[in-house]
Amino acid sequence: MAGSLLFPAELAESFAKIAEFIICFPLDYMRFLREKTSEFQPILLFPIIENIFKTIYFKNIYLCPMAKPRTIFFCSNCGASAPKWLGKCPHCGEWNTYQEELIQKETAAEEKRRSWAPAGKKEQVKAVPLREVQTGKTIRMETPDQELNRVLGGGIVPGSLVLMGGQPGIGKSTLLLQVAMQLPAKVLYVSGEESEEQIKMRADRVADFRSDCYILTETNTTKILQQAQDLQPELLIIDSIQTMSTPHLDSAPGGIAQVRECAGEFLRFAKETNIPILLIGHINKEGDIAGPKLLEHIVDCVLQFEGDRHNTYRILRTLKNRFGSTDEMGIYEMQSIGLRQVSNPSELLLSQKDEELSGCAVAATMEGMRPMLIETQALVSKAVFGTPQRSATGFDMRRLSMLLAVLEKRCGYFFSINDVFLNIAGGIRVEDPGIDLAIVASLISSLTDVGIPSDVCFAGEVGLSGEIRAVQRVEQRITEADRLGFKSIYVSKYGMKGIDTSRFNIRIHTIGKVEELKRALFV
Ligand SMILES: [Zn+2]
Repeated sequence: MAGSLLFPAELAESFAKIAEFIICFPLDYMRFLREKTSEFQPILLFPIIENIFKTIYFKNIYLCPMAKPRTIFFCSNCGASAPKWLGKCPHCGEWNTYQEELIQKETAAEEKRRSWAPAGKKEQVKAVPLREVQTGKTIRMETPDQELNRVLGGGIVPGSLVLMGGQPGIGKSTLLLQVAMQLPAKVLYVSGEESEEQIKMRADRVADFRSDCYILTETNTTKILQQAQDLQPELLIIDSIQTMSTPHLDSAPGGIAQVRECAGEFLRFAKETNIPILLIGHINKEGDIAGPKLLEHIVDCVLQFEGDRHNTYRILRTLKNRFGSTDEMGIYEMQSIGLRQVSNPSELLLSQKDEELSGCAVAATMEGMRPMLIETQALVSKAVFGTPQRSATGFDMRRLSMLLAVLEKRCGYFFSINDVFLNIAGGIRVEDPGIDLAIVASLISSLTDVGIPSDVCFAGEVGLSGEIRAVQRVEQRITEADRLGFKSIYVSKYGMKGIDTSRFNIRIHTIGKVEELKRALFV
């Protein structure tokens, strides 16, 4: 926005030649605008503009009365709007989420509605009989990144709009720059955050070029889409949606109205040109994608890039996918040269140890279609204060409380006077209920100080009455444990129907209740 000037509408035309951007507003709103725009406006300009306004104020107000800029209040959680400020959002029920934003529609509405479709291909609206619709015609673009392909359900679908969310600094830009550079196709990488030099420096560090990668540093969506239309890339990457702004709205970039409008423009471009777009979106401190929930409804696919900044592992999860399953997961390892795909997570997530340690148990879990062996660690120690502490990393706290209650009630182990700490190795968050049995085993092991042999693993869900429930894809879990050299596995006796156990080298123990686990390992 350097070189921007602020003028009333009538003067705008004459100044259009010298100013890069022109924002029109009636003078009453000057103070308001100044507050709103001072974040990104060169402050030095203001005294000059103010002086100009003082001299032309009266002339101007009589000559050209302008419409008042319209401000709307948006809920920062769900994107609902209201003409007045509201304490509680009537749509999502959140408190104190309404924020004021300046909305001023572009006068040339037809300019906004311009079509991005190729010249020869005019928009045709025609209903098609369902039985004549051909399936299996979608050819996905496979990226060299197998983990990304997996979470997208087999590759990038042409014309799709994909949102990748994640906390700042976690490696979203690095990941997508790697994809941009290694994809054997023409890619346009648009950055609103970094300069060309910064991107080049990062690019030199992370990967070797294989693609025809173009870099554009721009935040104006119209200019970006114009450039994309001229260049005709096979993939467009936008870093990030929060820095983009459309000239059709006057509100500040990163605001709800802007984010929503820009996403809508990118969606329309993707659908009309069939060029897939990957958007990077930042996550706010509550863990939601900053901007309205509405953004999640606009895009075809929402990916979340998670992990601790201090941990080397990063996880890419699917939260929404119109073209595939949502329970897939990709794992990366952050290295100095960029993100490396982890194709065999089990071998990495198991700590290599020979001695038996109390409080450690290995779970055979499934993440999507992929079996994964993860180590769970529990520490049960005498509570120093009256109220014992409960802490869980990578596991749901309420579920931990439930498992502790089951152990108290069914097995007679008392945790109520102890602090309980639970940790899942690698900083990974596990949602598969099949991890329950391993957690129960590690809790008992730590409480009784009896170690579990390191070649034993577990797969089973624990119910409220202490029963061990069957888990899905138990055969795949056993196969993975067998492949990794485990000697025995504990599974639910209810899920073994029709499974040929003779083909495994691993010894399969089937149990039906938590008490049986206690008898088998801890007595
Ligand atoms: Zn709301």
